[in-house]
Amino acid sequence: MSEIPGVPCVFCEIVAGRAPAHRVDENDEALAILDTQPFAAGHTLVLSKRHVQWWDDLTENEAAAVFALAHRVAKRMRTALEPELVTLYARGRRIPHTHVFLVPTSKGDVLDRHFDELEKIQETSEDLAPLRRPASREEAARRIRRRPR
Ligand SMILES: [Zn+2]
Repeated sequence: MSEIPGVPCVFCEIVAGRAPAHRVDENDEALAILDTQPFAAGHTLVLSKRHVQWWDDLTENEAAAVFALAHRVAKRMRTALEPELVTLYARGRRIPHTHVFLVPTSKGDVLDRHFDELEKIQETSEDLAPLRRPASREEAARRIRRRPR
């Protein structure tokens, strides 16, 4: 599947072995490959083996497998590449197949500067000010608690 009818999903093709990738590691439910457009040397994507767009639509076992593989690969990155930290995030909007980004990150590099800017917005944006109020946060917590999936 992909967002374009008739065009196979590139990550499904990689999982099936029909498209090339620099494979780093895998387990039963997840595969780690190098990103073709890295933010830093060793930038890795951890994919679910099953085609699922949003990571929170994975089964609990699949989510655990993706996170376990991300954890194992990040540990190796810390030793092999010696970044300050390994940034982890997931979106799934551009390629609609669950993938977690693992990016070796050091102070002042491209991704570090990006997240520094994002944190400034989070903490100072007037647009977000209403969400910082205790009553607003309590309402969000109440809504999340009463909506089990
Ligand atoms: Zn796919």
